[in-house]
Amino acid sequence: MLEACCVCPRRCGVNRLASESGKCHITNEVMVSSYGPHFGEEAPLVGRYGSGTIFFTYCNLRCVFCQNYSISQLGEGVVVSREGLASMMLDLQAKGCHNINLVSPTHVVPHILDALELAVAKGLRLPLVYNSGGYDSLETLKLLDGIVDIYMPDMKYSDDKIAEQLSGVKDYFEANRAAVKEMHHQVGDLEIDEHGIAQSGLLIRHLVLPYGLAGTREIVCFLAQEISINTYLNIMAQYHPCYKAFDIPKLSRPVNQQEFSEAIELAQKQGLNRLDKYQFMSPLRLILKY
Ligand code: SF4
Repeated sequence: MLEACCVCPRRCGVNRLASESGKCHITNEVMVSSYGPHFGEEAPLVGRYGSGTIFFTYCNLRCVFCQNYSISQLGEGVVVSREGLASMMLDLQAKGCHNINLVSPTHVVPHILDALELAVAKGLRLPLVYNSGGYDSLETLKLLDGIVDIYMPDMKYSDDKIAEQLSGVKDYFEANRAAVKEMHHQVGDLEIDEHGIAQSGLLIRHLVLPYGLAGTREIVCFLAQEISINTYLNIMAQYHPCYKAFDIPKLSRPVNQQEFSEAIELAQKQGLNRLDKYQFMSPLRLILKY
C-alpha cells in the first residue's frame, strides 16, 4: 500500500517506500509530536489515570480551522522508530493509562501495525483507540479488524462542497459514512465496563460549526437510521477560529448557544440516546481555556 500509496481515500499513488510524499507530507517514517496521559478526552476514555494519547505528526486532511495545525499541517514532531513507538505504548501502559489513544493515525497505519507487533510481544494489553478525522479507506480499516478496540472518528461535514473548501477533500461524506459503517460492523456500539471505562465499540465526534456548516441534521439522521440509536455521540461546542479560519467570514466567530442547542435537539429528535455530557462554552470561557 505504501509503494503506490492508497493508505487513505486520497489514493495519492506516490511511492512512500522511495521517500516520496503525498498530500499528508509523510514518507516512509512515523513522526510523533507528543505522548502521555491525557485527561481532556471523553470520560469513558479518561477514567482515573487518563487516556494514553500518542499525537502523530501530519494528517491526511487539510482543515483550515485545525486547532492542532502546528502538528497536523506544519509538521511539529520528531521521527520515531518502530521500537520507539512500541516503547511509548508500553510506557503509557506502565503509567496506568486505560487505553492507547492513536491521534490522527490514518496516514501511518502500516507503521502503527509494525510497532504494535513488537509492543504486544512485550506485553501491551490495553484497548486501542483509533482517533481519526473520519476520512479512512475501507481497505485500510479492514487491516485493523480484530486489532482496534475502539473507533473514535469525526463526522465533520455532510456537504462535500463544504468539506472541499474547509478540509481539502472532495468526497468526505461518502468516504466518512462508509468508514463509520465498517467501524461499527467491526466493533459495534460502545461497551463500557463496571468502572465506567470504555472497552470496545464506536464513539463518534461531531464538532458544531457556525452557520450550520457541519451539516448536523444529515449526520445525526445517518447515525440513527444506518448505524444505531445507541451510538455514543459527542457533539462538541468548542469551535473557535484559529489557523486559516479568519480568512473565511463564516468561520471567524465561535459557535453560539443557539447553534449548539439546535444540534443537540436534532440528535435527540432522531432518538440518539447516548450523547456525551454536553456543555456549551461561552466565548469568554473558550478564551480562558485556550
Ligand atoms: S496516506 Fe498520505 S500519501 Fe497516502 S493516500 Fe493518504 S494522503 Fe496520500
